[in-house]
Amino acid sequence: MQDTVASIVEKHTEARPGFRLAPARFGKPGHQVDVWVECPEWCTLGHVENWNQHAEDLDHWGDDARWDTDCINQPGEGVLSLDMRLHSDPGATDSRLQAAHVTLDDESVTAYLTPEMAERTADEMIAFAARLRHLARQAREFNDRAASRPRRSQADEALRRLRADKWRSLSDEDIAALPIVRLLKAFGVMVLEYDIAGVELLGQPGHMELRVGREVRQQLRDSEARRLIAEYAAGVREGRAS
Ligand SMILES: [Zn+2]
Repeated sequence: MQDTVASIVEKHTEARPGFRLAPARFGKPGHQVDVWVECPEWCTLGHVENWNQHAEDLDHWGDDARWDTDCINQPGEGVLSLDMRLHSDPGATDSRLQAAHVTLDDESVTAYLTPEMAERTADEMIAFAARLRHLARQAREFNDRAASRPRRSQADEALRRLRADKWRSLSDEDIAALPIVRLLKAFGVMVLEYDIAGVELLGQPGHMELRVGREVRQQLRDSEARRLIAEYAAGVREGRAS
């Protein structure tokens, strides 16, 4: 209170180094008085427009610098924000608050930092920012690697479709004449052993499955495979399957 009252000065007083004289308004509306106060040269608050009821309520504020994060699902909104300013409160009981200091405000709390505290915070934020960069790089590299997999499988899918249609150029005679390995390849047949009695052909060309019983001999497997494939191809030509 004493200090604040002391900051109200006569108009022609010479301001202390780092201060200038600025007009200020105090009192309740209708009972206000304009006086001169010593105002730090970094203070950009107009003390007439931003009048105070009591002299001890007068605060000095510098320009604010604001940082906002972007956000995926709330673009353009500062989901996280920090505001920093120079501040001094001549009416404070703590001399560190009377002196010029830095405030950091996240819109819910305000941190009042001495110059030393602010320097330490700045160092910590630089380290924090480096960590943020590291996480960004980690996320990007992971996404790039993950994205390369679907691209490969898309190429596989195209090849599979290409192969899947090749069988259509084969005539019944081709199917009868081709070596069984070539034939299985042309129809994209995977051969799997099952605990079944005979041989079954499932699926569509390109991803067919030939299920053969474990007891079925190789020669019978081959002839059965050829017979089932020929049957499938004939069926498609006659419109029984697609
Ligand atoms: Zn001021």
